[in-house]
Amino acid sequence: MAARSFARAAASGHGRSHLPRAARAQSSAQPAIVIDHPLIQHYLTQLRDVRTTPEEFRHRLAQVSALMVYEATRTFRTRALQVRTPLAACAGAKLRDDILLVPILRAGLGMLESILELIPHACVGFLGMQRHHRTLRATVYHKSLPADLRSSEIVLIDPMLATGGSALAALRLLHERGARRVRLVSLVAAPEGVARVRQQYPDLPIFTAAIDARLNRRGYIVPGLGDAGDRLFGV
Ligand code: URA
Repeated sequence: MAARSFARAAASGHGRSHLPRAARAQSSAQPAIVIDHPLIQHYLTQLRDVRTTPEEFRHRLAQVSALMVYEATRTFRTRALQVRTPLAACAGAKLRDDILLVPILRAGLGMLESILELIPHACVGFLGMQRHHRTLRATVYHKSLPADLRSSEIVLIDPMLATGGSALAALRLLHERGARRVRLVSLVAAPEGVARVRQQYPDLPIFTAAIDARLNRRGYIVPGLGDAGDRLFGV
């Protein structure tokens, strides 16, 4: 499904938008949903600090990812479910849709584990993207996704939304397989990347902890935190 028709479908009946009205208004009025929880801002600052070692970085990124996904999944749909407690019948809820987490390699791996701990029944797809150092164009070097994504609630995970090239390439692949309900979770975003994604996917919920000042000529977010993959893995 093309980006714009995805947006239309999401806003209308079939493939109904997964955002309640208030959040939908927020997502089309705002470039991205900035989660400014104090714990997230505390850990984000440690992640930005150049003195933070890869070991600490992995740990902090895992913590902040779990906090972000807690907020980013607030609009997951549920089904009513009745259970019996030891005392009485009780109305409850059960997550309604299949959930697919899709980290963009390699930095997305740093966010995956802690999110899987929160949603252990989720399936995981992988997209490997490489950015050309001069053109900054994203190319796909690995793809493992379920064939049919029509009924999946998809969380696309990439710590850095920089030029938006990787996110757009990923979104295109997801929509080619019928994805209707996608949300993007990026720790830090550049205004340029948010605007580029927003232009093609006006209704896509983009969750971030910060929208930084700008991109530099090499496509890095400033002030950002550097190369998230290098910071995570030390190379
Ligand atoms: N990818 C990163 O890891 N960092 C940036 O600043 C931009 C893209």
